[in-house]
Amino acid sequence: MAERVEVSDVSKSYGKVHAVTNVSCVFREGETIALVGHNGAGKTTLIKLMLGLIRPTSGTVRVLGEDPSAGQFEARQRLGYLPENVSFNMALTGRETLAFYARLKRVPLDSIDALLERVGLGHAADRRVGTYSKGMRQRLGLAQALLGRPRVLLLDEPTTGLDPALRRSFYEIVAELRADGATVVLSSHALTELEGKADRVVIINRGAKIADGTIEELRSIANLPTRIRVRL
Ligand code: ATP
Repeated sequence: MAERVEVSDVSKSYGKVHAVTNVSCVFREGETIALVGHNGAGKTTLIKLMLGLIRPTSGTVRVLGEDPSAGQFEARQRLGYLPENVSFNMALTGRETLAFYARLKRVPLDSIDALLERVGLGHAADRRVGTYSKGMRQRLGLAQALLGRPRVLLLDEPTTGLDPALRRSFYEIVAELRADGATVVLSSHALTELEGKADRVVIINRGAKIADGTIEELRSIANLPTRIRVRL
């Protein structure tokens, strides 16, 4: 399967803080990968590196065959991003919000209603986002990330704050994306909810990759830190 994201020996420091240290990983077409680690482990930094929002201190990142931090990164439209704590202009409606992002991304506007339906917001398309619940805003964030049918999706803690029913519907959408060949990278604290959802789990501890495999494979690794082992 085609390689969609290639992180090669990447480190990123903020002054004296080593946020990411010598991480290498490859994410392929049709794979769903979870980045798991504690607060401050380096998950968001890795996602920002893959988005090209920051440049590595050393090492290289390739997304869809290109350097995502390069000015002329042509693949930008095929990259979807859901930030942690997504926030919107509360005065815009759901439909207007997606139209705004579609224009920014320079993707056609005609998919907006279908996307709102897909994330269960069809009924609220003309309501202001200020009236949406947290779960609805999170789903609007996902719809925004799906604009333009991206081939790589980077979702930063997408299920935090969602109730079990919303988590289930979120993972149903992820399964559809996977079937459609998208590469989905999601960061999470919650190893337990990833069983059967992620093809692979990459465990990040203090900026370093300490494991990469299926949950089954991770269970057979003897020297994982206890706090991770007990959650497998
Ligand atoms: P969380 O689950 O809390 O989002 P994380 O795994 O995403 O955590 P990062 O946000 O990548 O972790 O942070 C990794 C380390 O880098 C932390 O020690 C953090 O304080 C530090 N860090 C992140 N961004 C910056 C920045 N812009 N300037 C300085 N230090 C930073």
